[in-house]
Amino acid sequence: MKEGRRLHPTAEPEERAYLVAVEVKGGNGRWQTESSLEELALLARTAGARVVGRAVQKLESPHPAHYIGKGKLTEIKAERGRSGYTLVIFDDELTPSQQRNLEDALKVKVLDRTALILDIFARRARTKEGRLQVDLAQAQYQWSHLERLEGRIGTRGPGETQLETDRRLVRAKIGRLQVQIEAVRRHRALYRRRRARTGVPVVALVGYTNAGKSTLMRALSGADVFVEDLLFATLDPLTRRLQLPGGHRVLLTDTVGFIQKLPTQLVAAFRATLEELSEADLLLHVVDITHPNAAEQAQTVEDILAELGLGRKPRLTALNKVDRLARTDGSPVRGLEDLAQFELSLSNYRPDAFFVSALQGWGLRELTEHMEETLFAEVRARRRAG
Ligand code: GDP
Ligand code: MG
Repeated sequence: MKEGRRLHPTAEPEERAYLVAVEVKGGNGRWQTESSLEELALLARTAGARVVGRAVQKLESPHPAHYIGKGKLTEIKAERGRSGYTLVIFDDELTPSQQRNLEDALKVKVLDRTALILDIFARRARTKEGRLQVDLAQAQYQWSHLERLEGRIGTRGPGETQLETDRRLVRAKIGRLQVQIEAVRRHRALYRRRRARTGVPVVALVGYTNAGKSTLMRALSGADVFVEDLLFATLDPLTRRLQLPGGHRVLLTDTVGFIQKLPTQLVAAFRATLEELSEADLLLHVVDITHPNAAEQAQTVEDILAELGLGRKPRLTALNKVDRLARTDGSPVRGLEDLAQFELSLSNYRPDAFFVSALQGWGLRELTEHMEETLFAEVRARRRAG
């Protein structure tokens, strides 16, 4: 059967992507349609495509057959001559029949947000475990699409229909992958128990994708960590030893970034990775404070953590990239002391938040001191006494 819809932009001439979003009446939740589309553009660029145009349609609800309305469809079709797109990406999950109908009408490849994210993950997974998890997510995506086709295509007649064959193959693949991932999971659990016995606390970096987790990891531990201005540059968790200012040792773990509308298959497939978070003694939430949607991003991370049952884990927040902020007179910030004005309003609502610049190494001393104080009782006591 056909493998998932994949982009191979490095092997082929550059894909030219046209982006489409529907704004349903009453809004799309926390995220503005425009910001979500902006993020979709970054996702498309991460997958190696060039964004050549975009369209938003306001609708009561998505059209069942084409997701967008007939008129908009005609408009987008006409756009092709002007922008020369080779691919249309929708900022939402399409049903299998919507996807098919759209490909028939537009005569180009049609992807949805989930397939795009899965494609990025597929090309970025480096370790065996990462690849297993991506394979499982893709198989589950295929499965959910095949499942929704059921009932629409007749299954009468002797022998197995193509749909039945596909379903059987995907089902078997999912089963196989689940067994392999279960083995990985047991191995990780064993490793975690051994680690726990050593008594070294674990600090896990969490945050929205591109917030600067890997950069902070590198700044703190000197580890050679992959850093890139792309979404999901890190797929596989990485753990490094770190010595705190008072001499205590901790283990620091870098994790995969979160994103809004994270496909449910991915959350499930990455459970083994995310389980690392549940074993952590402290979560260090990294926020790109300079991003126009910093608040929505931080809340999205909090929501996912709550979903994973980690809402009450001890945590510190690092408000990162402050070197990109400007002072009130518009001049660039040259150090943390320039941020006194921000600090005041900040402490009003987030007492556990610290300004840092992972890139410049600003604020790391204070941050690590607080890590130590949060994790080690005697440091806490000493601080209070002194
Ligand atoms: P991750 O996805 O959270 O791991 O983010 P990365 O560590 O890969 O960083 C994403 C991008 O943000 C990279 O281009 C980094 O160089 C940049 N970045 C990270 N921290 C800072 C910072 O403190 N200041 C500035 N200006 N850029 C940063
Ligand atoms: Mg990273």
